Amino acid sequence: MTAPGFTDYHVHTPLCRHAEGWPVEFASRAVELGLVELGFSDHNPLAAAFDDWRMLREELPRYLESIQEARSAFPGLPIRLGLEMDYLPRTEAWWEELRALAPWDYWIGSVHYLPDGTEVDHPKYISRHRDTDPELIWSAYWRAYEECIRSGWFHFVAHPDLPKKFGYRPKGDLRRFYEPAIQALVDTGVAYEINTAGLRKDCRELYPARDFVELARDAGVPVLINSDAHAVSELGAGFREAVELLKDCGYRETLRFELGRPLRVPLPA
Ligand code: ZN
Ligand code: FE
Ligand code: FE
Ligand code: ZN
Repeated sequence: MTAPGFTDYHVHTPLCRHAEGWPVEFASRAVELGLVELGFSDHNPLAAAFDDWRMLREELPRYLESIQEARSAFPGLPIRLGLEMDYLPRTEAWWEELRALAPWDYWIGSVHYLPDGTEVDHPKYISRHRDTDPELIWSAYWRAYEECIRSGWFHFVAHPDLPKKFGYRPKGDLRRFYEPAIQALVDTGVAYEINTAGLRKDCRELYPARDFVELARDAGVPVLINSDAHAVSELGAGFREAVELLKDCGYRETLRFELGRPLRVPLPA
């Protein structure tokens, strides 16, 4: 499918060691799809080596260069510079330094790590989802997610209900988890994304679920649609489902970012 008029701001690069396709290749695909803007948001480097799925601090120049290459090759396509930032305790001094290292258009706040150090979306922990009451995992996750929003560092937050990735969800009405996060978005003016990667995972559902989108819409929280592409073929994927859900819930606008400044634009048809 094509995605004319859309932006896709959640895109990875090979520097994170689990994605394929350099920015210039994504940019070529973006033009084919009719995207009006493309934004890169690879997993952020940390001050010291930490895990095996993000760029190293020394690789940041290569990241910036590769995005510059894509801009030079496709001068008609605005290409934004972002990061997908892991919300981890005690890293703010490094964020301060990192923020000054490049003219960032936006930072996405993500919770992949729970306070006990496990990664909520990593396949190596799938048995933990099977063997633990999802209520416990979800409670820990949403507490961290609310803190991530309230930290004030991020322009929007990623894949809100990520712990459903492998298909395990607590029983009952899940709005009890969504409501505090949405209140935090309202209080801080932070936006969230509809992340289409969920359609490609075991949960077979957009992140977040419809109930979250309805509550957020009623609260006036702005939204973006992103693919979280880790391969060129995933760019713009699932955007039709995402825009249908948003319109169905009453959304009429989305956001773009340039140097941290949000711009409200109508949702494409
Ligand atoms: Zn990734
Ligand atoms: Fe993520
Ligand atoms: Fe991502
Ligand atoms: Zn992501």
